[in-house]
Amino acid sequence: MSRSIRRIVILGSTGSIGRSTLEVVAASRDRLSVIGLTAHRSCQRLVDQARQFSPQWVVATDEQAAAEADWSGLPSETQLLVGLDGLRRVVSEAAVDIVVAAIVGSAGLTGAWHAVQNGKTLALANKETLVMAGPLVMAEAARCGATILPVDSEHSAVFQTLHAGRREDLKRVILTASGGPFRQYSQQQLEQVTVQEALNHPTWTMGPKITVDSATMMNKALEIIEARWLFGLEPDQIDVVIHPQSMIHSLVEFRDGSVVAQLSPPDMRLPIQYALTYPERMDGPATRFDWSRNFSWEIFPPDKTRFPALELGHEVARRGGTSGAVLNAANEAAVEAFLAGKIRFPDIVPACRSVLEHHHFDPSPSLDELWKLDAWARREIATWIGI
Ligand code: NAD
Ligand code: MG
Repeated sequence: MSRSIRRIVILGSTGSIGRSTLEVVAASRDRLSVIGLTAHRSCQRLVDQARQFSPQWVVATDEQAAAEADWSGLPSETQLLVGLDGLRRVVSEAAVDIVVAAIVGSAGLTGAWHAVQNGKTLALANKETLVMAGPLVMAEAARCGATILPVDSEHSAVFQTLHAGRREDLKRVILTASGGPFRQYSQQQLEQVTVQEALNHPTWTMGPKITVDSATMMNKALEIIEARWLFGLEPDQIDVVIHPQSMIHSLVEFRDGSVVAQLSPPDMRLPIQYALTYPERMDGPATRFDWSRNFSWEIFPPDKTRFPALELGHEVARRGGTSGAVLNAANEAAVEAFLAGKIRFPDIVPACRSVLEHHHFDPSPSLDELWKLDAWARREIATWIGI
């Protein structure tokens, strides 16, 4: 990336990460420029973003929403494309330096995969890409000369702190977790959790799916798997600690016992900006510490009995193969069912475990096989909950 202005495509620009990415770009217009934006159904928001950033292309991936939307407000220099073909076309354009993968769920894999195949720099927020297909994605990135830079705050922290020592001296990685809104709930209280309570995260403002994942701690399970493939770690090198303040974003421990951490107030604009400007650092809009304040930060071990998702994360990180795609799809379907009032909060993780245990495991699946299992796991969840 030798150009002085980096040209960016944001997949999922209307979501929480997408909007934060646009705030970073708006603050650094001399260094960052948006040339493509995609959204699924939020077409009006996409038009508004196009008016502000004048990209070359906007893509609406949901063809029906695209047909019903009013595109008359699009700037004259912006071309409208529709569907997954439009998304693939924009990602593969020669003018694109960086693709920000900010679509939620397994729907994010297609664009991320295409970016990798085209040798782009992939700023990866969509952790589901690596959960589903980590070994395939990492191998394809090596083959095609693509660089994958983490946006997930914990993985950005690990990526940054790994620079403090030699890889062969790395002992372990410690991912921090806020513990979510139900950190101190008893088993009995967890039975009563409502959708509204689950959507109320104590430290981060995020899209609904990842907010529920944080409440079940499935988010941390997915992040264990993400870290395994992204950094090529052994599963038992990845630990999780609870840190309710979300100021320490993760830590790495070296052979000599030295531990290095990355800290900042919880604000996704910082890891997003780091991925967009790497290896440089720039002034930016992210919130800063006020060092004249008193701070009190806690760290303690997670309760794996009340939050059984964590164990699933380690199991899938150890097993690999088809298990990540199955866990991911089962979780997406179970979260959707919970948000629709069809299952209770404490049923989400057992439903995922049940589907995982019933699938036909393959240690080295093709991408095609993973997509088939994604669909299968969703059907299994529907059967599990009786719909
Ligand atoms: P969100 O729900 O706020 O936004 C999702 C975006 O994806 C929207 O632009 C939407 O239009 C698009 N989208 C949804 N379904 C789609 C589909 N089927 N096809 C194409 N596009 C589709 O989600 P978010 O919170 O911004 O999270 C995005 C990704 O980033 C997730 O994978 C999440 O795990 C990850 N992440 C988010 C945060 C955060 O702070 N929000 C932090 C770390 C990682
Ligand atoms: Mg995270």
